[in-house]
Amino acid sequence: MENSVIEPVYVNAFVWDQHFVTGLDEVDDQHQGLVALFNELSRALFAADADLQGDHGPLLRDVFKRLVAYTVFHFTEEEALMERQGVDVRHVEAHKALHRQFVQQVGTMWAARASTTAAASGDGITSFLTAWLGLHILGIDQSLARQIKAIEQGESATQAYEREMAGHDNSTQVLLKMIGKLYQVLSAQNAELVQANQHLEDRVALRTQELALANEALQHVNVQLKAYGRTDGLLQVANRAYFNDRLEQASASAFRRQQPLGLLMIDVDYFKRYNDHFGHQAGDACLQAIARAVQQTMQRSTDLVARYGGEELAVILPEVDAAGAAAVAARVVAAVVALQLPHPASGAGPFVSVSVGAAGHVPRLQDPGTDLVAEADSALYQAKANGRNRCVLANG
Ligand code: GH3
Ligand code: MG
Ligand code: MG
Repeated sequence: MENSVIEPVYVNAFVWDQHFVTGLDEVDDQHQGLVALFNELSRALFAADADLQGDHGPLLRDVFKRLVAYTVFHFTEEEALMERQGVDVRHVEAHKALHRQFVQQVGTMWAARASTTAAASGDGITSFLTAWLGLHILGIDQSLARQIKAIEQGESATQAYEREMAGHDNSTQVLLKMIGKLYQVLSAQNAELVQANQHLEDRVALRTQELALANEALQHVNVQLKAYGRTDGLLQVANRAYFNDRLEQASASAFRRQQPLGLLMIDVDYFKRYNDHFGHQAGDACLQAIARAVQQTMQRSTDLVARYGGEELAVILPEVDAAGAAAVAARVVAAVVALQLPHPASGAGPFVSVSVGAAGHVPRLQDPGTDLVAEADSALYQAKANGRNRCVLANG
């Protein structure tokens, strides 16, 4: 058997026939105009569903806009006709209410099209339009036509209306009315569903946004907590624990890459005397000024200044060799003395000063940096012995 692909075939959504004629020429013409537009929209939706790649948005929007405009025009004309003919006000009110509902419902369904699946929505709208128009014509429009005819033949509007209402024993009319009611209920439920769905989507979006914000705030707090955990409260530089971690990492990395690693040990000269002379609070402020000055001396973001203990600072200088470490050490000594903080009790000069021990080389062992600390420490001892306010390079 020959293989055949079943192509979707477009069928007009609404097929006009004589049952839909009301006998009011103007109204019938407009109804046919509406049917033509429904079918045009139906075709456009069909084409859009069949070709998901193309952008059918502008065309669809255009057809829909014309459809709504024409519907509103037709409703206005029909309502003007009712009033011109003096149709009973009870009918006019009921008829107008149906028109309003329709415009509202179509708007809701169109807006919901974007958030529902293409197949369901395109089909849904077309089915709704055609079923609604069919029922509307067979029901209330034809009732209107009969009332207008009766009025033209001399009956009063009230009589004509009440006869229409009494015509309930006509089984087709009863059926139409029931279908109409059912239809109204379904339309209302559909509109509610669309709204509920939209509401839910909005809430999910809002919740997602809130969660993202909370997450961001949490991350921020975490970063701060981490920073607190590794910072010295008084001097606002790295604390000893963080220094140990970073030195171990820097040492391992330098060993792996066979790059030099520099280290400075800094100790304030005659600081016990400073405290004794000015008091502990002045001592604290002095230490803070020194820490700031040392920090400002560093030129690379990878350099790490830490409080090693009491009035001692240490600096890790990645990728810095002995000569480099000695140069940075000299800058530190100069920077502290340049603060010109008076220290009358110092044995090293008129101002607060520091002594610095420097070391720098490629780590010889895979050790956590203890070598380097020991070397810088003994150089510091040497600087003290040599008269303070100076730096000494370890002979590593
Ligand atoms: P040297 O030149 O030999 O280093 O003399 P020094 O007096 O600085 O040496 P020593 O280590 O004996 O004294 C350090 C002093 O630093 C003792 C201690 O009271 C003081 N010190 C340590 N930490 C702090 C601090 O956080 N604040 C204050 N104000 N003083 C501190
Ligand atoms: Mg000390
Ligand atoms: Mg000291």
